[in-house]
Amino acid sequence: MNHFARKQSLHADVVIVGGAVIGSAAAYFLSAEVALGGSIIVVEQDLSYSRCATTLSVASIRQQFSTPENNRISQFGVEFIKNLPQCLTVHAYVPDIGLRERGYLSLVH
Ligand SMILES: Cc1cc2nc3c(=O)[nH]c(=O)nc-3n(C[C@H](O)[C@H](O)[C@H](O)COP(=O)(O)OP(=O)(O)OC[C@H]3O[C@@H](n4cnc5c(N)ncnc54)[C@H](O)[C@@H]3O)c2cc1C
Repeated sequence: MNHFARKQSLHADVVIVGGAVIGSAAAYFLSAEVALGGSIIVVEQDLSYSRCATTLSVASIRQQFSTPENNRISQFGVEFIKNLPQCLTVHAYVPDIGLRERGYLSLVH
């Protein structure tokens, strides 16, 4: 039987299309939701993640926006990303996402 003939169909209660920051975050937080009690699959077309906005924007994380809600969302995200190695450690493997905060320089004229 060749590789294609052995393809199995997958079933899940939740299917998330796209595994970059939004898809992964949705999967992470949903999986911690005890009330869900179901299975989650993340479907990603590019396992190198080389062309997604998440990879292309890895530079700085802005925390000043025009609404308090957006500021707080960003602050939560920064704290989460800083603690990400602890959150995502599996069997003593500690991931390093290479976050180096360099800050923003805003000039007002
Ligand atoms: C230069 C730059 C700077 C930025 N700065 C900021 C900032 O300061 N603050 C901020 O909040 N945001 C910023 N952003 C925006 C932020 O990066 C994006 O909003 C965020 O990364 C989007 O994440 P995402 O997971 O929704 O999309 P993406 O990162 O684009 O991921 C989408 C994923 O879905 C996959 N996919 C798509 N279609 C399919 C399919 N049919 N089947 C399977 N997989 C699929 C793709 O392969 C990809 O991996 C910036 C973006 C850029 C480019």
